[in-house]
Amino acid sequence: MISLVIPIYNEQGILEILYERIKVASAGWNQDYEVIFIDDGSSDYSLEIIQKLNQKDDRVKAISFSRNFGHQTAVSAGLKYSTGEIIVVMDGDLQDPPEQIINFLEQWQQGYQVVYAIRKKRKEAWYKKLAYYSFYRLLNWMSSVKIPLDSGDFCLLDRTIVDHLNSLPERNRFVRGLRAWIGYKQIGIPYERNARLAGEAKYTFRKLIRLAFDGLINFSYRPLQVFTSLGIIVSLLSFLVAIYYLFAWILDPTVREQLPGYTSIIIAILFLGGVQLISIGILGEYIGRIFDEVKARPLFIISQKIGIDQ
Ligand code: UDP
Ligand code: MG
Repeated sequence: MISLVIPIYNEQGILEILYERIKVASAGWNQDYEVIFIDDGSSDYSLEIIQKLNQKDDRVKAISFSRNFGHQTAVSAGLKYSTGEIIVVMDGDLQDPPEQIINFLEQWQQGYQVVYAIRKKRKEAWYKKLAYYSFYRLLNWMSSVKIPLDSGDFCLLDRTIVDHLNSLPERNRFVRGLRAWIGYKQIGIPYERNARLAGEAKYTFRKLIRLAFDGLINFSYRPLQVFTSLGIIVSLLSFLVAIYYLFAWILDPTVREQLPGYTSIIIAILFLGGVQLISIGILGEYIGRIFDEVKARPLFIISQKIGIDQ
């Protein structure tokens, strides 16, 4: 059986079309399937529509969060409740076409445990494209695991992978990174990412920045290392400058009478102050994450289950 894991946050305009598209696409799969919607605290009619779909078709199931916990958490929850031998993670806005799944299945039959989609083309604003482009390259450079370029969460996972994912206890979840970290045989297939069918992107700028930080910080020590190196370089330079001034003071009597330059001092103070603040901020990012893990709160709270055995 195939489990489709689909996070939903205020997608009332899309759900029915999504359901129909999946139904049509599933004709080619030769497999039973279930659709697990994760209602991530929607405030529109998404949950009601899902309930209606469930009454019509008991392959539609859902868990509903008590509030908005975020997309990555929703995906993690969906994976926990999936029962299929094959799991497909996709967005609920039809940017990830269900018609693509049949190509995933082909690779799975070839023996790949992870088949992820690579976004060849995006139909989005140029600044978003640029941001995504640079983010994935930066992530790849920084990260200790090779996270494939331009691959989002749209993927097929074998049961073994999902079991491993479910056993990872961490709270700040960057699913596409964890997926790469697990290993096994993985392959990417390119596709054209559509524009979203209706409604607005639910990822706000802030949420995207958080996601980017989750990716960069959870998978790399490099931000810390960069500041260690910078610290060493700045210390060396200031040591040289100190020696220069010491000798100038000893050898050149005019230097002794001068008031030393205001500009150079203020530049040095501002520069070092900036560097220190940034490095404290980055330390904070790591410490905040440690704090999250130590608190050991559950990842999410479910307020309602639809069509799912207790
Ligand atoms: N989503 C979610 N919780 C959120 C934000 C988004 O479950 O806090 C869902 C959303 O309903 C959609 C998917 O995650 O199904 C991707 O969101 P969106 O299309 O806004 O992201 P983008 O495609 O712009 O990266
Ligand atoms: Mg989208």
